[in-house]
Amino acid sequence: MPPSVEVIQTRCCIAGGGPAGMMLGLLLARAGVDVVVLEKHGDFLRDFRGDTIHPSTLEVVYELGLLEDFLRRSHQQVRQLVVNIGGFEIPLADFTHVPTRCKFLAFMPQWDFLDFVADHGRKYPTFRLLMDTEVTDLLEDGDRVLGVKATTPTGTLEVRADLTVGADGRRSTVRERAGLPIRDLGAPMDVLWMRLSRKPTDTDTPTGRFDRGRIFIMLHRGDYWQCGFVIPKGDHEAVKARGIEAFRADIAAVAQFVADRVNELRSWEDVKLLTVSVDRLRKWYKPGLLCIDDAAHAMSPVGGVGINLAIQDAVAAANILAEKLKSQTVKHADLAAVQRRRTLPTQLTQWLQVQVQKRVITRALSGRVPLTPPLVLRLFRRIPILRRIPARLVGVGIRPEHVRTKDAFKN
Ligand SMILES: Cc1cc2nc3c(=O)[nH]c(=O)nc-3n(C[C@H](O)[C@H](O)[C@H](O)COP(=O)(O)OP(=O)(O)OC[C@H]3O[C@@H](n4cnc5c(N)ncnc54)[C@H](O)[C@@H]3O)c2cc1C
Repeated sequence: MPPSVEVIQTRCCIAGGGPAGMMLGLLLARAGVDVVVLEKHGDFLRDFRGDTIHPSTLEVVYELGLLEDFLRRSHQQVRQLVVNIGGFEIPLADFTHVPTRCKFLAFMPQWDFLDFVADHGRKYPTFRLLMDTEVTDLLEDGDRVLGVKATTPTGTLEVRADLTVGADGRRSTVRERAGLPIRDLGAPMDVLWMRLSRKPTDTDTPTGRFDRGRIFIMLHRGDYWQCGFVIPKGDHEAVKARGIEAFRADIAAVAQFVADRVNELRSWEDVKLLTVSVDRLRKWYKPGLLCIDDAAHAMSPVGGVGINLAIQDAVAAANILAEKLKSQTVKHADLAAVQRRRTLPTQLTQWLQVQVQKRVITRALSGRVPLTPPLVLRLFRRIPILRRIPARLVGVGIRPEHVRTKDAFKN
């Protein structure tokens, strides 16, 4: 007898429980739309996730009435970002003037943020989150997507839905199976991701350090630093061939205050490779299907804005689609409206990221010239008001979205 296939029928099936998929799931369920989110991992506990919750995301959390609960959970509030270029400290961003309720970046490990969103999603009878469930293919009738096929610990699942959303990240199975054409914008780097312990005497400001041939990012995670060492794309094997000792020395040279801890990196087992890509779909949708965030436009880590874009895409999609999903009247034009709404912020942000990749990162990684801060950045030391510009771009972004959907379960 062939193995049985479990079938679920829903209004909206979301592939991927990252920031975009989870937030869209919460927003739709809250608006009274029956939604199923499928996440291939058994939990959200993975190291390779950004930790930055931006002021614009906190504004969305406030608009959902959840800010108090968010702020009760463990996090760090960061009001200034400082970069170190060739030994010069540059105060790059000052968030204390952003036009939102929370004038800071909140650093919260992403698994805690996703647990927070999931906790609130589960309060709605319309929300279903299936962990350990990997989307493997689309269900199609001609050009129309009818749902997905997935594997679970107990077998095979088919989720049939009026709308399928691909929120399964930069290596999206959904977009690949849908055959949506991609434009690759290129990224000159990859990132080596690792932890080093944090001492109470260390600074608590997250830092980016740029020196000849080296870029080192340090994110504060309580008792340890989550660190990213940026390397030229494709150089991973060459870096490994030089040996772990040489790698430790590189880190100690760029961030002297952790020189006493680099031995915590015992072997390459402690260092993970994260590949960076910047791309976007020409068309984010086809009948019955929409891709959002990294699945529609993979973001570079430059500026740490990927999660912000994820939340903004989710809010825009829910604003445009929630009522139509309830009345089963989602049309091709509604999916096109989501792409239209998010095209400007996506293209401008990616353009800025690509400029920084070309002009700053490629130059720093070439190691040919000693690094000194460009004149424009030196002005940031003298003219504090300039620090509001990067704060606005990173913290709020271009054309921020606001929650327009209502809580269908609130009297
Ligand atoms: C090195 C690096 C550092 C970064 N640092 C930051 C930062 O500090 N701040 C920031 O804002 N952004 C950062 N970014 C960007 C940010 O991580 C992404 O833009 C953001 O996570 C995208 O969210 P998402 O929900 O679209 O996708 P993801 O976060 O990738 O989530 C996709 C989810 O889908 C699941 N999934 C994948 N395939 C399937 C499948 N077939 N079936 C079911 N589930 C599936 C995955 O397990 C995952 O949970 C960084 C990126 C990189 C590469």
